[in-house]
Amino acid sequence: MAKSGKKKILKCVQMPEQAPGARIKNFDEVTLGYSPEQAIREASRCLQCKDSPCGRGCPVEIDIPAFVKCIREGDFIGAAYKIKEKNCLPAICGRVCPQENQCERFCVLGKKGDPLNIGGLERFAADYGRAQNRLDEPSRPNLTGQAGKKVAVIGSGPAGLTVAGDLARLGYEVTIFEGLHKPGGVLVYGIPEFRLPKDIVQFEVDYVRRLGVEIRTNVLIGKLFTVDELFEQGYHAIFVGVGAGLPLFMGIPGENLNGVYSANEFLTRGNLMKSYLFPEYDTPIKRGKKVAVVGGGNVAVDAARMALRLRADEVYLVYRRSEVEMPARAEEIRHAKEEGINFKVLTLPVRLLGKDGWVCGMECVRVELGRVDESGRRRPIPIEGSEFTLDVDVVVVAIGTGANPLLPGTTPGLELDERGYIVADEETGRTSREGVFAGGDIVTGAATVISAMGAGTKAARAIDEYLKKQV
Ligand code: FAD
Ligand code: SF4
Repeated sequence: MAKSGKKKILKCVQMPEQAPGARIKNFDEVTLGYSPEQAIREASRCLQCKDSPCGRGCPVEIDIPAFVKCIREGDFIGAAYKIKEKNCLPAICGRVCPQENQCERFCVLGKKGDPLNIGGLERFAADYGRAQNRLDEPSRPNLTGQAGKKVAVIGSGPAGLTVAGDLARLGYEVTIFEGLHKPGGVLVYGIPEFRLPKDIVQFEVDYVRRLGVEIRTNVLIGKLFTVDELFEQGYHAIFVGVGAGLPLFMGIPGENLNGVYSANEFLTRGNLMKSYLFPEYDTPIKRGKKVAVVGGGNVAVDAARMALRLRADEVYLVYRRSEVEMPARAEEIRHAKEEGINFKVLTLPVRLLGKDGWVCGMECVRVELGRVDESGRRRPIPIEGSEFTLDVDVVVVAIGTGANPLLPGTTPGLELDERGYIVADEETGRTSREGVFAGGDIVTGAATVISAMGAGTKAARAIDEYLKKQV
């Protein structure tokens, strides 16, 4: 008896989800969130460790035991405020952070059973605060010395929103310049609705607005204005958070056929332009019957699940390493499998076949894994004679992205690395240009929401110090 009682304590309270058969027919969120009772039960598993090892895994330094304790005691608003002290986008992070590699990796409960579902509890507190309309009015401290100092933030992804929010709280006049018509970066154009509902992103963007940040959309810096022109317009410091949105392709024959998309285009059409509601919305998308998505990261899994919801009969996820090496989150892989995505691992596309200008097949070769290569993963080696063809009418390439050269190319004196990413100090975001700071994917290459936010937090601190020294 005692034994089975112990097991119960170690097991995580499962978050309810839409059933796979139902969810592939809609774009609604898959995971449904904890009820208050479930959240209290899950929070009660926390041991309130004195040295809080979980905190070491949180890039924005949330006081995890403190907010979990609030939930355990039924003080949900207190929990939400505790999180907001360090994280201005908690409903987003609670949903998309790879917690299994961060806070939850350090949770001592994980040594003997399931770690605490820290992400699920963060999401619960943030959603509760929003539903109660209790996190609405952020206070804007009127700090001395900052009045009249203006900061331009280029890009409204998690890095830009974080730096803007933090600087507004410190009393600076902050303007975000965003190239697209909606703010949010990958959160609005990349991560699908069924994983991150857009009204949640909107709410958190509005929160940053209510802190006093002006957001100007449809302004592409490097085209409409340059960084130098922003300085001429009176900005005292500039933060560059333009992400890494330049799609990479495989470089195989047939990639220019109709029906072949980059994951960026495929997901942007789906998420930002709502092409699944065409013709109600203007942007069309080809709804393939047999779709192959190439890649093994979150982006590939998102694109595959999107294709399924666009009513494909068969969706292949074609990945050149094994499932163990897949960079996608474990939860996304589980969801994709439950939904019926056909995993073709250890498979390398070599040629796309076309008919009348449209893609109609993908020639592949099976591979085996050899020695570890420069990426730290085992190199795929083609197996002779193992070629085969998949019949497909849409192909989505999701093998990664690079730095868009537009902004760096129009900013003289900005040091770049050999791949075109901006060189910036890890602790401060300082670049080689006086008064220009940078962070997020445009510095690190494609990474995570929370790492972009962490860079935003550090850069805001550094910009504050920099501006305090300016007369
Ligand atoms: P972005 O979010 O890319 O934002 C940059 C913004 O700058 C964009 O809005 C862009 O339009 C704008 N911009 C670019 N150039 C200019 C210019 N010249 N002038 C003005 N504006 C400009 N991470 C996770 O942690 N968990 C996940 O589950 C996850 N899933 C993902 C799924 C997909 C499909 C994708 C693409 C990424 C995913 N990521 C995930 C990664 C994560 O979203 C990124 O690491 C993060 O958004 C980077 O933030 P950022 O602020 O640096 O850039
Ligand atoms: Fe709670 Fe786990 Fe953090 Fe310990 S490590 S305080 S059990 S969340």
